[in-house]
Amino acid sequence: MTKKITILGAGLSGILTAYRLLDKGFEIEIIEARDRVGGRIHTVKDAKTQIEMGATWFNEVHINLQKLLKEFNIAHYEQFMTGTSYFEPFSAAPAQEIDIPQNSPSYRIAGGTSHLIDSIKLKLQDVRIHLNETVTAINFENEKTIITTNNSVLKTDYVISTVPQALFIHDIKVVPSLPNQLQDLAEKTHTWMQDSIKVAFVYDTPFWRNKNVSGTLFSNVGPITEFYDQSNEALTTFALCGFISSGMEMYTKEERLAKLKIQLEKVFGQEALTFTSYHETVWSKEIHTKSTKQIGFMYPHQNNGHPLFRKNYCDNRLLFAGTETAQQHPGYMEGAVVAAQRAATEILKLENKL
Ligand SMILES: Cc1cc2nc3c(=O)[nH]c(=O)nc-3n(C[C@H](O)[C@H](O)[C@H](O)COP(=O)(O)OP(=O)(O)OC[C@H]3O[C@@H](n4cnc5c(N)ncnc54)[C@H](O)[C@@H]3O)c2cc1C
Repeated sequence: MTKKITILGAGLSGILTAYRLLDKGFEIEIIEARDRVGGRIHTVKDAKTQIEMGATWFNEVHINLQKLLKEFNIAHYEQFMTGTSYFEPFSAAPAQEIDIPQNSPSYRIAGGTSHLIDSIKLKLQDVRIHLNETVTAINFENEKTIITTNNSVLKTDYVISTVPQALFIHDIKVVPSLPNQLQDLAEKTHTWMQDSIKVAFVYDTPFWRNKNVSGTLFSNVGPITEFYDQSNEALTTFALCGFISSGMEMYTKEERLAKLKIQLEKVFGQEALTFTSYHETVWSKEIHTKSTKQIGFMYPHQNNGHPLFRKNYCDNRLLFAGTETAQQHPGYMEGAVVAAQRAATEILKLENKL
């Protein structure tokens, strides 16, 4: 009988796990809480706009991601860093002009990071992807595993969860209970970038490039802490995009924008106020990335890549595959690729299909 595999989450880990298990004799479905695929990858795109509200860069050490891009024939290009960059050491001083060494470039995915997600998804025509379905419980007591979501009950053989570990343990009730050690570990596992706020200003022209300014800003002052040029590879869309202090979550969008405009004008001049649109994602308020039941402080990447996440649970019927479970580069897109490929291989081993 055909075994069914249910993957929780349609981020990079989830859709790649599904893709790696295609044509191996399984019925595959993905359950995704959001109304879109991609998870922490989210390119906002139209004729005038191509900005990354989530993952953006990779570098030479991310070899599995690079292989995947090659496999899908997706090009990449260097982050634009040419010209004067700025550093704000403290509030009373003007921004200093700095040169940034170009010896270890960061790369961006041509067409936007979501182009990778869309390309994999195109191959998943035989996979049912349920959107807007939040998994709330999984019961492994009977021969068939039962998954409960906010609006349905599904039966399956294997569950592969790519939901961030802290979110999984807080928001999904597993019966019988998972080992205490795993529960304790998962709730103390940092979800990479869960507290970040990404903002983007879209322009008709790259006024900074025209003045030999790179668009890069590092600031100790804030609210912007790191900013970069985010023009697309074809140079048909132009933007400045980056991170602001996570403490800015306490303000409204309008209040944040007002504060950002002051800093933008101070550093990049009046033309910086000629943006055509403003975009922001406050990731700490994204309930499908950061659990509302988080415990206190966690240091970046805390418990990421722990070996307990790479064990099978519930009679080999529950596996984990999100980026935070990866042995290499957990938290990053590279980790998502590594974790997905490991989980898919593990299922093939369990089913003697390798
Ligand atoms: C602002 C930001 C910037 C980043 N920048 C970079 C970068 O430059 N380079 C880099 O390599 N990485 C970066 N990252 C990290 C990168 O985005 C992640 O490593 C990667 O996308 C994780 O993929 P994933 O599939 O493991 O997890 P996710 O993308 O988090 O996918 C998990 C999925 O599970 C879904 N889900 C959650 N709960 C449930 C539930 N109960 N039921 C069903 N579905 C559920 C979520 O909606 C989500 O779609 C960044 C992340 C953010 C947020």
